[in-house]
Amino acid sequence: MNTLYWLTDDLRIEDNPALTDAALGETLTIIFCIDEQCFRTDRFGNRGMGKHRWRFLRESLLDLQHDLQEYGQTLHLLSGEPGEVVSELLQKGPFDKVVRTRQHSIKDVERWHALIGDFPEIAFVEHDGSTLFSLPTLSFDNEFPATFSQFRRALETAPFRPVVSQPTQLPKPSSFELDSRLAPPPNKTVFPSGGASNGKHHLDAYFGTFSASTYKETRNDLSGTYSSTGFSPWLAHGCLSPMYILERLRQYEATNGVNESTGWIVFELMWREFFRWHARHHGESLFEFSGVTGKRPLTSFYRERFLKWRDGTTPWGIVNACMHELRETGYLSNRGRQIVASCLVNELELDWRCGAGYFEEQLVDYDPCSNQGNWQYIAGVGSDPRGGRHFDLVVQAKLWDADGDYRERWAGKEHPQPLDSMDYYDWPMEAKHVDSP
Ligand SMILES: Cc1cc2nc3c(=O)[nH]c(=O)nc-3n(C[C@H](O)[C@H](O)[C@H](O)COP(=O)(O)OP(=O)(O)OC[C@H]3O[C@@H](n4cnc5c(N)ncnc54)[C@H](O)[C@@H]3O)c2cc1C
Repeated sequence: MNTLYWLTDDLRIEDNPALTDAALGETLTIIFCIDEQCFRTDRFGNRGMGKHRWRFLRESLLDLQHDLQEYGQTLHLLSGEPGEVVSELLQKGPFDKVVRTRQHSIKDVERWHALIGDFPEIAFVEHDGSTLFSLPTLSFDNEFPATFSQFRRALETAPFRPVVSQPTQLPKPSSFELDSRLAPPPNKTVFPSGGASNGKHHLDAYFGTFSASTYKETRNDLSGTYSSTGFSPWLAHGCLSPMYILERLRQYEATNGVNESTGWIVFELMWREFFRWHARHHGESLFEFSGVTGKRPLTSFYRERFLKWRDGTTPWGIVNACMHELRETGYLSNRGRQIVASCLVNELELDWRCGAGYFEEQLVDYDPCSNQGNWQYIAGVGSDPRGGRHFDLVVQAKLWDADGDYRERWAGKEHPQPLDSMDYYDWPMEAKHVDSP
């Protein structure tokens, strides 16, 4: 068997069911495709991948390349439209099997199905490596639970997927020639750094403290080392698997005890799980204005308002601080994400997709399922049983930044100027101040 292993969000050796399967062939070719579309700008002015994620991705690929070399294997980095790249390889190469980790976002699902149709003589196998459950254990694929609570209840007794052990050896590379150059990332240490080794280092450091035992009380904080787990960048790129994290959590609980906080970490991993299967079920509507509900929200697109939100020059200091942190670091706490998303949708009355697109560009932990799912939830076109969330920005600032430290750290000044300088017909507006919090 000559196997092609198509890496996606599974950049690791440990607990990687797709790699374990790929290890069974006679020859093995391992590829990762950089989708060139990611560097283009969309109609809202957002790029698919900004500098933070690009750095993290390159670090993760180099780390994996290093690990694969120890097995005598090579990671080939290719660029182009991923479906076309793989199709071209399958036409030219000696492959009779393709494996990858199961994908949940519509584009990835469609690419896979197109390849299956185009190459009926080749075996295509997807493995559940990025989730806690595997597809065959989910009994609701046609009748997907409408809300997170229903999803969680439906899976209460379902078994988690088993953790697989690391392969002891890998087949030799095929003689098929492929370019595998990979530009190294800038030579300076930035946190979080990509790669399974850095992910494991972070995991050890986190569980080396007692933070997991107070997670429920601190998880909403806007900042603070270990106020939340910080696992998301490694999870999004698959440098860590959610099952691997769950195992470490169980070890921590065995030593330090189970409490509501440790249980809440599993609860949050279940949210991630929910959004993955939810994305797979809802397909294209996850990217549509009217979302999975099919209801068109009453928002529009005012470029000037969007730029103020993006650049952190709105009348709300707390929003501005969050937007500055996001641009500087590629990360924002969950509470911060909720605050700025609610502001974009409710105060600025903008199309939620332009906010989601900006998050896609900036977030180091961007994941289409969680990002679109959370944005739709807040915009009222997703899985929220309450039909969307509107956070009171003044109350949020008082609750989560009572002393103003966060706003000071991230230059969260208020900009009380009117939101718009032109009216609907492009006439200059009269200067009128917006009430600032
Ligand atoms: C508008 C918006 C957009 C978001 N976009 C993304 C995204 O692109 N990628 C992403 O990984 N998360 C996204 N989230 C979810 C959440 O904000 C981040 O997962 C979390 O802040 C990451 O920090 P952490 O690892 O310390 O989380 P923790 O609080 O420590 O949670 C542990 C893990 O649980 C998962 N998780 C926690 N909350 C959520 C949630 N609401 N939805 C899905 N999974 C969750 C994550 O994998 C996280 O690493 C978004 C949330 C909002 C409100």
